[in-house]
Amino acid sequence: MNLKEIWRSSKLRERWLCMPLRKNYRRLMRLFRYYGIIGIKYLLPWHFFLDYIEISITTRCNLRCPDCALLMPYYQHPYDVDSETVIASIRKVSECFDACEHFRLLGGETFLHPDLKLFLAEIPSEKCRKVSIPTNATIVPNDPELYELLRQKKVTVIIGNYPVAVETQKKLIARLEQEQVMYEVPVSGTWIDYGRPINYGRGKQSLTEQFARCDLRCKSILSGVMYYCSRCAHSCDLGFTSRKPGEYVDILHNTTAQNRREIRRLMWRCKPVEGCKYCQRGTAAAVRIARGK
Ligand code: SF4
Ligand code: SF4
Repeated sequence: MNLKEIWRSSKLRERWLCMPLRKNYRRLMRLFRYYGIIGIKYLLPWHFFLDYIEISITTRCNLRCPDCALLMPYYQHPYDVDSETVIASIRKVSECFDACEHFRLLGGETFLHPDLKLFLAEIPSEKCRKVSIPTNATIVPNDPELYELLRQKKVTVIIGNYPVAVETQKKLIARLEQEQVMYEVPVSGTWIDYGRPINYGRGKQSLTEQFARCDLRCKSILSGVMYYCSRCAHSCDLGFTSRKPGEYVDILHNTTAQNRREIRRLMWRCKPVEGCKYCQRGTAAAVRIARGK
């Protein structure tokens, strides 16, 4: 047994996984990696570094991947989030942070929302290291103004690499290159299986370990409310789980000071949230599976 294997199976590792210090340490490391020594200023109480935020703009998707981590196929009546709510959410959350590592608009399929341009125009890209929108690459937009905004806001289009979209993906990439818009295609053809949204009956200790191993750091806003992660957001929205005090932030109705305080609390949280009971990420069952459709 080499040292790595001994560490992996040791009790010490389990304890380390569940320690608040571990999460904080990793966030601090990222802060210094991105901003160098200047990153120290974001630790001061009057500065705020938000590492990763996603804003859901639609639950409509033209694919219905059976293992969708965001649970889109469970929506009987998929909907576009009201545009005013999305814009207000972007404004309210942007007021809170001085720097953000990753700002993302999320679907469903993001290109299906008719007001995507309005949302892009609101993103404070000057404060963000990266702005992205994922797409399943089944749609090649034809609107020059949309491409102009994608360029202006330095958006990276993350292309889903779905087997069913091979042909449109090629066309989308050709168009993005022509329009000089940045894009990424994930190398891996697999994703993590989060499982069906059922209560798996795990005890307190195993939930704590699961939560520590999950290590998902993007906070997710859906219809003006920030959740711990996008899986939680859609689990609540679909009625599989309910919102618990301290596990969400009412972004639209809070003041900026309240939002800062509550987002910080959610970001640095070390205890599992209700949604983890209905999710397999972070457990041994969360194996890598072939991408959806
Ligand atoms: S394309 Fe993406 S959002 Fe749509 S169902 Fe598949 S995994 Fe979910
Ligand atoms: S384990 Fe919990 S925190 Fe991680 S993705 Fe699932 S619901 Fe979200």
